[in-house]
Amino acid sequence: MRQSLIVGNWKMNGSRAANTALIGDFVSCMAQLGKTDSDVKSAVCVPFVYLDQVGQLVNAESESPGAIKLGAQDVSLHVEGAYTGEISAVMLADMDCKYVIVGHSERREYHHESNFLVGQKALAALQAKLTPIVCVGETLEQRESNSTLAVIEEQLTAVKSIIGEKNLSRIVVACEPVWAIGTGLTASPEQAQEVHQFIRAQLGADADKISLLYGGSVKPGNASELFQCPDIDGALVGGASLDAKSFSDIVSAASI
Ligand code: PEP
Repeated sequence: MRQSLIVGNWKMNGSRAANTALIGDFVSCMAQLGKTDSDVKSAVCVPFVYLDQVGQLVNAESESPGAIKLGAQDVSLHVEGAYTGEISAVMLADMDCKYVIVGHSERREYHHESNFLVGQKALAALQAKLTPIVCVGETLEQRESNSTLAVIEEQLTAVKSIIGEKNLSRIVVACEPVWAIGTGLTASPEQAQEVHQFIRAQLGADADKISLLYGGSVKPGNASELFQCPDIDGALVGGASLDAKSFSDIVSAASI
């Protein structure tokens, strides 16, 4: 059975004071919405330096309607050693992370991360018993040249061949059209469903156990229609995850 999952990606935002307020307000909003079911899981992927702080905040709420898991935004492919500035998957697990984003388009673009590297990072996460949230998606140029599905197939094939088919059910895939990230543009439900259906078809025998998230300017106003698509199991949310009310409304839309 596929798990509904809403993940906030805080990117390079936050401060100790803002994080405390955001998690506290999210918990209050969830309590007001009266959601007590566990049909929908939620998580926040926070900057490395705040993992400890946010981990303590979310642990304190583990029994509340606003229960939320902890994640990171990137991971090293290495286990330990002389890799200045890197953070290993074992360290993330030690900080009680459950999830880690790999291959976000901002990492692919600004840090030149290749499909191969993304696959290696997903493998490192799995070896530390984390759930990698593997991001795939096409640029506007690729969509306009009708290469969306080919690009996504290539991105997924690299991950599949590195982690092995038997491990596919241990990942989450986030399909994020690059042209929709942080731009206010959203894929239409039809566009999103077409690509998510294609991704599911690439995921082999366990495809029905894998949560597929849509990402790209998800907001309370467009979340419901996206979540009605048969192959969309949740969302990876950037900007709107920094607002407690918006993020709780998106979580709530997934639990209807
Ligand atoms: C993201 O960062 O993965 C994302 C989808 O951002 P936004 O929701 O702001 O478009």
